[in-house]
Amino acid sequence: MLTFDVVVIGAGAAGLFCAGAAGQRGLKVLVLDHAPKVAEKIRISGGGRCNFTNREVGPANFISENSHFSRSALAGYTPQDFIALVERHGIAWHEKHKGQLFCDRSANDIVQMLLKECEAGQVTRWQPCGVHAVRPKATPSDDGSRFELETDQGAVSARNVVIATGGLSIPKIGATDFGQRLAASLGHRIVPLKPALVPLTFTPEQWAPLVPLAGVALAVEIGTSQPGDVAGGKRKKNAPPAFMEDLLFTHRGLSGPGVLQISSYWQAGQPLRINLAPQRELASELKQAKVGSRKQLSTAWSHALGEAVPQRLAQTWLSQLGESHPTLRADAPIAELKDKDLDALGQSANAWDIVPNGTEGYAKAEVTAGGVDTNELSSRTMESKLVPGLHFIGEVVDVTGWLGGYNFQWAWASAMACARALAACAENPV
Ligand SMILES: Cc1cc2nc3c(=O)[nH]c(=O)nc-3n(C[C@H](O)[C@H](O)[C@H](O)COP(=O)(O)OP(=O)(O)OC[C@H]3O[C@@H](n4cnc5c(N)ncnc54)[C@H](O)[C@@H]3O)c2cc1C
Repeated sequence: MLTFDVVVIGAGAAGLFCAGAAGQRGLKVLVLDHAPKVAEKIRISGGGRCNFTNREVGPANFISENSHFSRSALAGYTPQDFIALVERHGIAWHEKHKGQLFCDRSANDIVQMLLKECEAGQVTRWQPCGVHAVRPKATPSDDGSRFELETDQGAVSARNVVIATGGLSIPKIGATDFGQRLAASLGHRIVPLKPALVPLTFTPEQWAPLVPLAGVALAVEIGTSQPGDVAGGKRKKNAPPAFMEDLLFTHRGLSGPGVLQISSYWQAGQPLRINLAPQRELASELKQAKVGSRKQLSTAWSHALGEAVPQRLAQTWLSQLGESHPTLRADAPIAELKDKDLDALGQSANAWDIVPNGTEGYAKAEVTAGGVDTNELSSRTMESKLVPGLHFIGEVVDVTGWLGGYNFQWAWASAMACARALAACAENPV
């Protein structure tokens, strides 16, 4: 039977990076994947250009039951380290907004880079190759192997196994819950999984009045709206963050970067709070506009919203609100309106509370939140505290990054922490 120092299951971002780094440190590594092509998620990421990291990365950019778990790995392998690797491979890149770094040419450049790193580490790669069983041995064999694996290409034994099978998002390109199921079968707790970085949906009745807005995009402030999130006008320290990002109206609900960000924090039944004009205090602007004015409400409303809010949204908003507040007619002279009506109009756009009925699910989600509970993993090595020699890296772990290159940085950092630890404790590599 073939014996390896390390068998990595999953040839995606974390798996390929870990395999190459471990191989280059003198370990005999096999990486296998059931999909015919490697790293399909990298290929489709960032609109085909792969947002491979972010200039500013810290634990605050990640969601996990244990908010400190990512700290050590992120500090051990930084965005600068990955940028240096990308540059050594001659890959041109550029920065988009908020520190997001993308390939100039194609995401495939990152895939090719990872494959070259694996070649440099003399990594064996089997693909497509399914895995039917991973069995820890009761006692290590004479050759030091602690696991036996059954694969499509026969049985192999391994001193260490690294699970890098990712999350459930985009099942049509090979995503499975293999890693989470294996972990659970070996006694690990799994933090419940849910689609994240995903568009949010609404009931057809709720959304019908807003369907005409499909295609409208604007910059908003968006957060969850739970009683207690805000105190004295400020978000509490442990409340989910609010994001200043773009929002997109679609035929079924809301999308765009702002909604993807907040979707990772959103819990079923919770309202969202959206400020459609975060730079403006609409109620006070309307009340000021009323003084000595002969304008109609629709004109004053457009003026108060300014250019930041598209006219199509401004007018649809007013006509929708007018249905429940008959005094708020578009042609009503603003001078005749009561302050409380103008307050209601301003508030409706500065603090729009709306409850999604769900998400577009794993078919559209960029990532899967939840995963292998970090309390049962070493944050320094990614090794299981329950099964010696078993490691979990990347998205299979309960660490979920924001939109903006954070998920790939977690894949690189957790993979490198694991590879270094494997090399450090390998006394006599196979
Ligand atoms: C459309 C889209 C765009 C994205 N864009 C970005 C972006 O620009 N920036 C960013 O930071 N993040 C982005 N992400 C998220 C990012 O792709 C993932 O977080 C990252 O790929 C996770 O790396 P991973 O190695 O843990 O898992 P993956 O890259 O998903 O790799 C898992 C691998 O395991 C294999 N596998 C699964 N099950 C089995 C099994 N049973 N047996 C064998 N092999 C198996 C899969 O085939 C796959 O190759 C995007 C995601 C999507 C879906």
